[in-house]
Amino acid sequence: MKRPAFKRILLKLSGEALMGSGEFGIDPETVNRIAAEIKSAKEAGYELCLVVGGGNIFRGLAAAAKGFDRTSADYMGMLATVMNALAVQNALEQMGCDTRVLSAIPMASVCEPYIRRKAVRHLDKGRIVIFAAGTGNPYFTTDTAAALRAAEMGCEALFKGTSVDGVYDADPKTNPDAVRYEALSFDQVLTDNLKVMDASAVALCRENNIPIVVFTIREKGNLATVLGGGGTATIVGA
Ligand code: UDP
Repeated sequence: MKRPAFKRILLKLSGEALMGSGEFGIDPETVNRIAAEIKSAKEAGYELCLVVGGGNIFRGLAAAAKGFDRTSADYMGMLATVMNALAVQNALEQMGCDTRVLSAIPMASVCEPYIRRKAVRHLDKGRIVIFAAGTGNPYFTTDTAAALRAAEMGCEALFKGTSVDGVYDADPKTNPDAVRYEALSFDQVLTDNLKVMDASAVALCRENNIPIVVFTIREKGNLATVLGGGGTATIVGA
């Protein structure tokens, strides 16, 4: 099925996408490969917003389960997303792309604070805008941050780059009979509790009519294919 093409989009990269074949942290080769694909998308005319997760470094919920104070752990998770954002920015800038990192937690000597009007201005000037530190609030995820920023920036779609090529009715990593959905409605995702993004992110996209395209970023060249409406993915819409 050919999906619609969009112009201004938000690309959510999970922290795991930056690990490469490792089990933790940032793999520079993988970051460079993804950055090159983002650069190509920019050159193809897309207006790009990025939200980067932090799960490759620190997850608040996992740390809280081991006894950490949840709020402190979440702030640590948000700081992890800033490290990832800087890694992606560094790779993009080395390739000649103009970028800005905007953090929901102000840290003046590292990057700009998130100010919506400034972010819009950067986009208008052709810069790639990277949103760091999630929503700036504990008890949220970078999926919700992605939905929130997509709505704020007037993005036409949210592309979620993960390690799986769409949404399945069971975990394809453990169940060989799992079937991938081609398209889903927001309501179906929420009622069936499908693991697309967390419920608050899906609800935000539903309210603002922003379709979510789930695809794998692990496959080389896939970003361009999926942005063009082809390839393997699941689209969640109204
Ligand atoms: N986080 C948070 N508020 C936010 C976004 C993220 O507290 O608005 C914390 C939370 O602890 C989370 C961690 O940052 O576990 C990393 O983000 P996430 O798990 O969404 O990253 P991903 O799974 O996309 O790599």
